Amino acid sequence: MQTSILTKYREARLPWYTIYPTVPEVSAAVGADAYEGWLRGLPADDPVSLYLHVPFCRSMCWYCGFPTTITRRDAPILNYLAVLRDEIRLVSEQAPRALPVSDVHFGGGTPTLIGPAEFLALMDFLRDRFALRETAAVAVEIDPCTFTAEMAEALGAAGVNRASLGVQSFDPVVQKAVNRVQSETQTATAVEGLRRHGVSRINFDLIFGLPHQTVQSCVQTATAAVAMRPNRLAVFGYSHVPSLINNQRQIEETALPDSAARAEQAAAVAETLVAAGYREIGLDHFALPDDELTLAQKTGRLRRNSRGYSADTCKTLIGFGASAIGRVGEGYVQNELHGILTPGTSQLAVWRRQRATVSPTKTACEPQSSSD
Ligand code: SF4
Repeated sequence: MQTSILTKYREARLPWYTIYPTVPEVSAAVGADAYEGWLRGLPADDPVSLYLHVPFCRSMCWYCGFPTTITRRDAPILNYLAVLRDEIRLVSEQAPRALPVSDVHFGGGTPTLIGPAEFLALMDFLRDRFALRETAAVAVEIDPCTFTAEMAEALGAAGVNRASLGVQSFDPVVQKAVNRVQSETQTATAVEGLRRHGVSRINFDLIFGLPHQTVQSCVQTATAAVAMRPNRLAVFGYSHVPSLINNQRQIEETALPDSAARAEQAAAVAETLVAAGYREIGLDHFALPDDELTLAQKTGRLRRNSRGYSADTCKTLIGFGASAIGRVGEGYVQNELHGILTPGTSQLAVWRRQRATVSPTKTACEPQSSSD
């Protein structure tokens, strides 16, 4: 690539290009009626993927670019779960009966705030409405700061087999600057608990470019991370857009590394991970040689979806919950962000209002990274 182009875009502080279709492409012009038709037209034998979004956290990480609601109480989460179940019921009634499912992903937010009993009940409900395959990949995003031993046991009992843990940085100075203080012990305890209960496939998310981060602290974090031997790591660059994301205004701009330092940090993390036996996957992921992502990259089955790289080759993705994105039949579908929380309306009406879709003629698939 030309040096002038590299220099121009390196200094441009561009926001993430993480979601496709991009926001202006999505409109209500293609609405719930079209979505219903697409669901009804799904082939009954083709396995689909499910995505469930849980937009709640206990405290705000200043770097976070995802829409979430901070709550110390469980009541809003339980209310949300009730509506989520209604949406699952409505969608499953439109789709062919016992639609096979080969991939389920819980994202957020912090999906494990649902709680053990409620999570088990939600998985039972999904199995009641869809035909989850025995071999289905079932993944959950986890914030180790709020993760409990009881939840690890529940995830194992519910058939979860992959967990994605937000780590970001183990450097206490960086953690304090981004309002996410998470010890190595907390992360290691979560990993041990998950493995003990059969959740054997572990992903870590790391971030470079955070305030006060240095090459040395990035390498120390990567070294501590690989000592826990996650199967995969996603390494994202922090995108600072305080004009769009209010919580990022808490970040001290003068403490942010410049573009050259960010590039050095990314390279140093990659070097550390590769030296520890991980294979580079696409732009920003790393995986052990026997991980499905490595095998998918070798065989040309690697995909990039709203959660990053994936070995999931389902043509159909059904999204549930506020802001969830799906890919169904003729196009992409996204729930409105807050519509799902609207009280006092019939659930069908809520569901109909919250759908916004886009024609496939304008679409392609691009990433949206999540980092709990
Ligand atoms: S980074 Fe994850 S845990 Fe932190 S506020 Fe955002 S969604 Fe919640």
